[in-house]
Amino acid sequence: MQAADYITLEERFGAHNYHPLPVVLTKGDGVWVEDVEGNRYMDMLSAYSAVNQGHNNPRILAAAHRQLDRLTLTSRAFHNDQLGPFCEQLAQLTGMDKILPMNTGAEAVETAIKAARRWAYDIKGVPENSAEIIVCSNNFHGRTTTIVSFSTEASNQRGFGPLTPGFRVVPFGDIEAFGQAINANTAAFLVEPIQGEAGVLIPPTDYFPRVRELCSTNNVLLMADEIQTGLGRTGRLFACEHEGIRPDIYVLGKALGGGVVPISAMAASKEVMDVFDPGSHGSTFGGNPLACAVAREALNVIMDEGLPARAEAHGKVFRSRLQGLIGNGIVGAVRGRGLLNAVDILPQAGAARGFCERLRSAGILAKETHQTIIRFAPPLVLSSADLEWALDRIEMVLSAS
Ligand SMILES: *Cc1c(COP(=O)(O)O)cnc(C)c1O
Repeated sequence: MQAADYITLEERFGAHNYHPLPVVLTKGDGVWVEDVEGNRYMDMLSAYSAVNQGHNNPRILAAAHRQLDRLTLTSRAFHNDQLGPFCEQLAQLTGMDKILPMNTGAEAVETAIKAARRWAYDIKGVPENSAEIIVCSNNFHGRTTTIVSFSTEASNQRGFGPLTPGFRVVPFGDIEAFGQAINANTAAFLVEPIQGEAGVLIPPTDYFPRVRELCSTNNVLLMADEIQTGLGRTGRLFACEHEGIRPDIYVLGKALGGGVVPISAMAASKEVMDVFDPGSHGSTFGGNPLACAVAREALNVIMDEGLPARAEAHGKVFRSRLQGLIGNGIVGAVRGRGLLNAVDILPQAGAARGFCERLRSAGILAKETHQTIIRFAPPLVLSSADLEWALDRIEMVLSAS
């Protein structure tokens, strides 16, 4: 079968809920992927930051194979010998007391929402069914009916009502608006430390320290959705470290599974996590031994190979070279932290999608977000030579319309 045949099959038998670039991938190795025609590309999306450790990372694959040969799924009706060590390791890395494993990012966000609501009723003393959670405009936290209820993107929401109540939206980065949105029923603030899907939007310098202060003085839980920004992507293990703050809850996913399995988690204090009692929450696959074994090694790779520091160093090179293109009639802005970066394409230069198609022809896979922004987020394992190779090509494509 040719690439076109696979695409036709997907279009004919698959739902049309995505608009992928017309490339059919069949192999991966580190920062590289190969399509069914034998073309090689550098993957500069990394499955939306889910393959920080690189495709087919040999250490993670070996851990997966070892666990595949032993035990893969027990449900939580029984204990398994991978869940405890996984929770211990992630608790230590996050500096939190307790971990609740789920599968997808959206499920971990849902878990945090449930925790915050129950905490509001059981601990804070908010009247039943009145808890409010503050979120930001242009947020992305996943695709469940409750999560899309507080999206500000019409396409995420249209036709999916009735929407879940209990959320209040404030502009990202506006500390006054945040302060004004807090009231006696506020349970939590759910926020991305950098808004990834919105186009890698970086908060103003003193925003998060003041958010932390307002949350603490008003007894509001600060819930950091680090599903995309966490685990080294932004040049720190967690993007909150750039802000010098510690949230009350970390929500993690994506790279936690090392690009091999879906696994997500909520990390929190004992006080918050203890609102869950047996029967109150769960997941058949959550905490399964295969995912836990893979996640343990995925975390080991991030720490042993110093991936946050690599992201930090490579990110500086990436931005300083591409900032040289600003003013060329195509590139409007370059921003990011570590290896989570975005380039704004000026409207008069054409749609970002066209540039992504030309990048693809030049051997680079990247994806537009919001028509005018291209996000660049390669696996953190890329070498300096890989980076120079990519920058040469990106410069070429973003210099000629
Ligand atoms: C990807 C993402 C999610 C949703 O994760 P899924 O695994 O796709 O459900 C939530 N929040 C952020 C910030 C994300 O980037």
